[in-house]
Formats: sequence, structure tokens, C-alpha cells
Amino acid sequence: MAISPFNPPVRTLMGPGPSDVHPRILEALSRPTIGHLDPAFVGMMEEVKELLQYAFQTRNPLTLPVSAPGSAGMESCFANLVEPGDKVIVCQNGVFGGRMKENVERCGGQPIMVQDPWGRAVDPQKLEDALQANPDARLVAFVHAETSTGAQSDARTLVELAHKHDCLTIVDAVTSLGGTPVKVDEWGIDAIYSGTQKCLSCIPGLSPVSFSEAAAEKIKGRSHKVQSWFLDMNLVMGYWGGGAKRAYHHTAPVNALYGLHESLVMLQEEGLENAWARHAANHNALKAGLEALGLSFVVPESERLPQLNAVSIPEGVDDAAVRSRLLNEFNLEIGAGLGDLAGKVWRIGLMGHASRAENIVLCIAALEAVLAEMGAPINTGVALGAAQKVLGS
Ligand SMILES: *Cc1c(COP(=O)(O)O)cnc(C)c1O
Repeated sequence: MAISPFNPPVRTLMGPGPSDVHPRILEALSRPTIGHLDPAFVGMMEEVKELLQYAFQTRNPLTLPVSAPGSAGMESCFANLVEPGDKVIVCQNGVFGGRMKENVERCGGQPIMVQDPWGRAVDPQKLEDALQANPDARLVAFVHAETSTGAQSDARTLVELAHKHDCLTIVDAVTSLGGTPVKVDEWGIDAIYSGTQKCLSCIPGLSPVSFSEAAAEKIKGRSHKVQSWFLDMNLVMGYWGGGAKRAYHHTAPVNALYGLHESLVMLQEEGLENAWARHAANHNALKAGLEALGLSFVVPESERLPQLNAVSIPEGVDDAAVRSRLLNEFNLEIGAGLGDLAGKVWRIGLMGHASRAENIVLCIAALEAVLAEMGAPINTGVALGAAQKVLGS
């Protein structure tokens, strides 16, 4: 039986990622593949590094895209910084903090968990208490933008507390980078990882990371080898940091890196501050529409992420049926709840290229049509106007 080429349907991606990929990036991916040690390619890699330093707001020389998705960036931060026996304080307020715990354990470290309710930011006082109770802790890890709930934590304050107690910090910025302020040097973050498929509008499969001078020192001075050969920064740097004398480590995903380069050039053209402002403004428009429909947000306003909007599913509404109708009838993808919030919330992403007016209008109109037809308890005829009023202001 002959299998035909795969032609994906054209969707609007308003879930937790991947988000809509800009056509300029798709075009960049189709440019001719060249060798990963070709001088022309090496020159492009230097630019990717510089553009990532801009996106992360850092001068860290150890800034590069790991050749694998966000989870690999997470793993590379833990694998390089946690040594067997290290005590690591992990602040958890959603799904991804739980994965940090897994990482610490698999590196032979001892996780000390600080729990906050799902849908809330990490409470700095709880971290302070944990730091005082564990003076031998070496690291603090937390998720800046919890995509499973839509909560944003105060990274600057959490890092400051960690440093006061001589701990290095690992920060998950997979969903925050490019969508909401991330200031690595100003906030003093030691290790940070992100993903390309959320607010950078690029394809999934790459994970930008950055390590401070102090983190790089810790990695160089380890008493045990990093247990992952692929993610060992001491080896990866022979390729990414080698200048003209680059050594083969692994074959870089050449075309995917063209895509990342293009997305970062676009970020530079727009300007980071303008990208943050766009995400904030579009969140306000979507919020006006969703609230006019009668839906309520999970996260308190001051702790909300503009790029990930978690709203409660109205009583009696069939979660999966709504999402499948949105997909099949409107080509619109929104996200389901994860973990503790499964079946209780929808997660509506406004990330990167997906964060634009036409998507807000489509999402509100489609949700209203589907919910009204299912007899859900919502207000009809007012939501689009409410969103449009904010969009026009
Ligand atoms: C998406 C996400 C990840 C994982 O990224 P993948 O590219 O799916 O591996 C990690 N942390 C957060 C907060 C995320 O949103």
C-alpha cells in the first residue's frame, strides 16, 4: 500500500504550545542545508548566540540553543548543575515544578519541595523559610511562567532570596521568553532554559539556555562527570564556543537553526519591549471577551501570564466535546487542563505569532458559537464587542 505525503490541516494554535509559526520562519526552514561546520553556518551560529543574548537580556558567553525541545534544556540545567548529594530547593506551583523534582532525583540530588497552590505564583516567604531551614542547600529552582496554570512568579525576588543564602538558581522560562519580561543579568539568574515553540513563534525542537559566570564555574569544577554525554556543557562548548576551531560534537539541526535565527531576527525587528507590550495588550482584549462571555480566570489578576489564559470550564459543559468542535469546525486549537486542573480548565495561549487581533476575534466567536449551541450558561452577543473595544483603544 502506498502512503501519500502528509499535508497537515491549517490550524490556529491557541494552546500551550506549539503556537502559530510565522510564515517567514517556515520559509527560512526550507533554505538549502549546508554543513554544520561550513564557515557560512558557523557565522550564522554566532549571530544566533548574539540574538539569544538579546532575548535573554544577558552578556553570558555560555548562551546557546540545545538541539532538542524545552525538556532537554531543563535536563541540561539540572544535569550540569546538580551533583550527587546536592540539596536543591524546588518551588512547585504546577506540572513543570514536578518535573524539576524528577530531574533533581535522577541527578542524585536531594529535592526539598516548597509547594504552592496550582494557579498561584510561588510565595517568596515559603522559599525564605525553606532556605533558613536548609542552610546546606546549593540550588533553588522554580518555573517563571507555569504553563499548566497560567501563573507568573516574581523571578527577581526569588533569585535575590536564593543568592542571599548562597544558592545558585535554575529558572524555567520556556513560556515567558519573548512574551513577558525576562532579564537574566539584571535579575542575576544563574541558569535558564526556554523553548522555541511558545512566544518565539518558531517550530518545536530547540531549547535556548544561558548560564552565568558562577554557573559556568560550578560546571567546570564538578567532582563528578555530568552523567549525560549529550548534554554535558563542557563538551557542547567545544562546538558552540569554539570560535573558528569548532570541534564536532553532534550534527547541529541546521535547518531548524535557520528557523530560530529568523524568529530572533523578527524579535529584534519588533523590539523586546514591544513584544512584551503586544502580549499584554492582546491578553487584555481576550480577557474582556472571555469575561463578557461569563468565563472566569483561574489565576488572580496580579499573578497572571498574558500569554497563557486559564479559564474555568462552566458547570456541566463537556470539556473534550468543546475542544474537538473548535478543532473540527473552526480549525482552532486551545489547550486542556493538565494534572490537578485536568477537566476543570481551558488554557488559551496568546503566544508569539498567535498573539494577534484576528486570533482573539476567532477564539471568542468560535467559543461563543459552540457553547451557546451546547446550551452552556454563557452570555451571548456581547463578548466580541467587549474584546473589540479593548483592541480598538
Ligand atoms: C512547554 C514547557 C516545557 C517543555 O518544553 P518541551 O519543548 O515540550 O519539551 C517546560 N516547561 C514549561 C513551563 C513549558 O511550558
